Amino acid sequence: MESVLLRARGVPNSRSIDTYLAAGGWSGFAKALSMTPDAVVQETIESELRGRGGAGFPTGRKWSFVPKDHPGPRYLICNADESEPGTFKDREIIEHDPHMVLEGIAIASYAIRSNTAYIYIRGEFVRWAALLEDAIGEAHRQGWLGRNVKGSGYDLDIWVHRGAGAYICGEETALIESIEGKRGFPRLKPPFPAVVGVFGKPTVVNNVETLACLPHILTKGAKWFASIGRPKNTGTKLYCVSGHVKRPGVYELPMGVTFREIIEGPCGGIREGHTLKAFFPGGSSAPVMRASEVDVRADFDACAEAGTMLGSGGVIVLDDSVDMVETAANLAHFYAHESCGQCTPCREGSDWARDILDRIVAGHGRPADPETLLRICRFASQGMTICPLGDAFSLPISSIVKKFPEEFERHIRAASTVPQKKLPVLPWAGSRPGFGS
Ligand code: SF4
Repeated sequence: MESVLLRARGVPNSRSIDTYLAAGGWSGFAKALSMTPDAVVQETIESELRGRGGAGFPTGRKWSFVPKDHPGPRYLICNADESEPGTFKDREIIEHDPHMVLEGIAIASYAIRSNTAYIYIRGEFVRWAALLEDAIGEAHRQGWLGRNVKGSGYDLDIWVHRGAGAYICGEETALIESIEGKRGFPRLKPPFPAVVGVFGKPTVVNNVETLACLPHILTKGAKWFASIGRPKNTGTKLYCVSGHVKRPGVYELPMGVTFREIIEGPCGGIREGHTLKAFFPGGSSAPVMRASEVDVRADFDACAEAGTMLGSGGVIVLDDSVDMVETAANLAHFYAHESCGQCTPCREGSDWARDILDRIVAGHGRPADPETLLRICRFASQGMTICPLGDAFSLPISSIVKKFPEEFERHIRAASTVPQKKLPVLPWAGSRPGFGS
């Protein structure tokens, strides 16, 4: 299949606007300017493009929620935070084709009638922030950004806003708070950002990969995009594969290939002498899959039917050398550290799960621990928290407990045969009955 989003990989001087224009770049935006904003929204709806940041919400429909009669400004935000562990696709697009991202931002901004767009980029992405700044400078000089773009009467400015490296700022309302200069605390929804977003104005937040699809949808048409993949799961997808495969990396494939085709195809299979044990299909917050589920299709609906999610398309592959209890402990450490602390089930639950998992790994597991972990995870998921981090920590951990019970049993059985550590005697033990004894 011909590359769409990664077509510039390996092309000399691919980041320059001249190279981009020579390959037909900015013509999608030119076409959008010849249409009405509503027609651009309709074209995107017909392409069945779904958000590539994790939620998989239909992009055109998201835009259509922005009130048309709002008198003040409205904003478009490109989410380049890319903080989900196992995800490294957006920086690959920016590395080779920053103008494709800018053109996508321009098309989306025009569609929602916004004259200001922000690129919220992860603080550590110093290199990619600089590449975007350079590309914005080039686009301004050639008249694709700024006042009266190409004589159309439409004005657009794009600003790069660097975050400070918090996982939670990849969540759209935390990201909005961060742009406003506040601590990255997610907001309660509703109101949704399409109505009350950054600076209290209607705002759309779209992922880098989602936006990068738009120039192609405008130039080649919604029908062409919808003909790739499966109905409601259209277009190509960047799968970033890490872990125990022979050739980890970012691969562009039609939406709906199976995980087996990804792992055994471009990734070259599992490393020598080992077999597949498990994989996370969409970043570390997706429920884990066993090796026997490798023939599930890598698209939004097939993953949901299989009880997991495609998420960002970050496929983390684990072979038979991996201890799944240690994997769960590793995840719990990450999410406990990244919880913003607003919701009790997420703040306390992630800490508690981490402590239990650490104890099991250290050889002090108790028979009731798996059930306690499942209970903690139940309380932090299913909409019990302000933002999806409650699900992000609880779903992968509970799926590991459910799908690999034998590994927990092995650890806990081993614990019952080793002498248990004595609890430390606390300094106040003498004065407070029951402590340290
Ligand atoms: Fe913060 Fe966790 Fe609540 Fe999200 S779920 S708002 S990260 S405490």
